[in-house]
Amino acid sequence: MNLGSDNLAGASPKIMAALALAAQDTQNPYGQDDLSIAARAALNRVFEARAEIFFVATGTAANALALAQISKPWSAIFCHATAHINEAEAGAPESLTGGAKIVGIEGADGKINVAGLKAAAGRFRKGWQPHVQPAALSLSQVTECGTLYQQGELAALCAFAHEQGLKVHLDGARFANALVALGCTPAELSWKAGVDVLCLGATKDGAMACEAIMFFNPAHAAEFTWRVKRAGHVLSKGRLLGAQMLAWLDQDHWLDLARHANAMAAHLQQGLCEIAGVERAWPVEANEIFVWLPAAVQQRLRAAGITYASWPTLGTGFTDRPPHEGVFARFVTSFATTPDMIKTLLRVAK
Ligand SMILES: *Cc1c(COP(=O)(O)O)cnc(C)c1O
Repeated sequence: MNLGSDNLAGASPKIMAALALAAQDTQNPYGQDDLSIAARAALNRVFEARAEIFFVATGTAANALALAQISKPWSAIFCHATAHINEAEAGAPESLTGGAKIVGIEGADGKINVAGLKAAAGRFRKGWQPHVQPAALSLSQVTECGTLYQQGELAALCAFAHEQGLKVHLDGARFANALVALGCTPAELSWKAGVDVLCLGATKDGAMACEAIMFFNPAHAAEFTWRVKRAGHVLSKGRLLGAQMLAWLDQDHWLDLARHANAMAAHLQQGLCEIAGVERAWPVEANEIFVWLPAAVQQRLRAAGITYASWPTLGTGFTDRPPHEGVFARFVTSFATTPDMIKTLLRVAK
């Protein structure tokens, strides 16, 4: 059993069946196939939007391409210090933007607040040649700490960003988990809150590999198709992506998968926190759990072959704990996590 991440699970049977079916007929290439066209229409229906939509196979490509579209090589892009674009994409955003400066902002629980953004943006003087020029705010929903921006927090950040002339990018690798946790509509948690471009991840929520880039203002997507092609991210058999997205959205499959993952996380964190010495770093609001595990628990899990991710303690109260006292662990539940797995894990841990 390995709960280190939600990309360790495979794909939902419904999505794999849709892929198998998509392999059977003749279709136009490069995203002009019937499935991709239908998937774009379905996304716009679900989001009550008229977005320009593009599909790619990785979240890193989605983020980097979207950010490149809304910035210039001499831009500043603001994000939380722990953001995936800042910490876990090997410089892809810097590369595809042609060198934009990623500016990490500290903030409790993996979240930026308006004061933090204001202070960071204030470091760069507009129109002054020596400074990079602020262009974009990038937020992660779910955040890198497994927490959520409430709709009001998101709207306030977007409003301030727009006042400053920044466009807002949302890294939605776990957008579905946030959506079902907050009980918002997709529109409320994206364009109605002020998000300009959403990278909507299906991969961690039951797809094999599929991410949608949604520009809610079609003008922002001008010539984007060449940016994607030039980077080598237009799939020849684009149906591979369209088929997954269509099956993912069909009959709220994406929401069911995310609801299940979140429920498993709630169950797991409740049981873990009952164990003496286990301490939670941040509130568990979606499908990610960050806890300090005492050495005895760590040993029991290891002996039983139960794996999680050991995580950097930065930004937590555990920074100065000696390693022999335990480990800072991340558990991520997915659509494929079963109640039996949680039961076993908790029994062993206890
Ligand atoms: C997983 C993840 C991504 C996408 O990563 P890829 O591995 O490139 O698909 C982006 N943002 C966050 C917050 C993630 O957790």
